[in-house]
Amino acid sequence: MRDQLWLENRFEFIYRKYFADLQAPNQIEIKWGRRSRRQLGCIKKERPKSFTDHFKTDFKTIIIINALFRDKEIPSYVIDSVIAHEMSHYAHGFNSPLPQIHRHPHKGGVIKKELHARDLIVLENKQKIWIKENWQKYLNQNYPPKLRSKKNYYIFRF
Ligand SMILES: [Zn+2]
Repeated sequence: MRDQLWLENRFEFIYRKYFADLQAPNQIEIKWGRRSRRQLGCIKKERPKSFTDHFKTDFKTIIIINALFRDKEIPSYVIDSVIAHEMSHYAHGFNSPLPQIHRHPHKGGVIKKELHARDLIVLENKQKIWIKENWQKYLNQNYPPKLRSKKNYYIFRF
């Protein structure tokens, strides 16, 4: 299973190679989240600890990656591509201290344009093809809905 250090190394690689111009205006943390059938990753601000923290500009950004991707069966370029997607949100000022340059995080193909400009579209397409061809099968074998409740799983088996 891939660990925290592995994930941080992937992040460092993607950040330095494709997003170095952003010059890290705040601290970005990456971590494994929960297992999910649908959500590959997400980006958010660190949860404010107090009321005044809501208005702080020096918040931490957290990128969360689907824990199912800890499995080495998932090609590393899938994780790389999810990191690139979340970093595109960051570049557009969503959950980052950078100025927000679009009204909506996805509308108008803004992510695709960003990935294009950063020479990341080949990676993105590779990821999409892999997900399309393998993800459902992977889920059926490794994370079927039945397995989420062990009790029900055994009831249904007999
Ligand atoms: Zn997104």
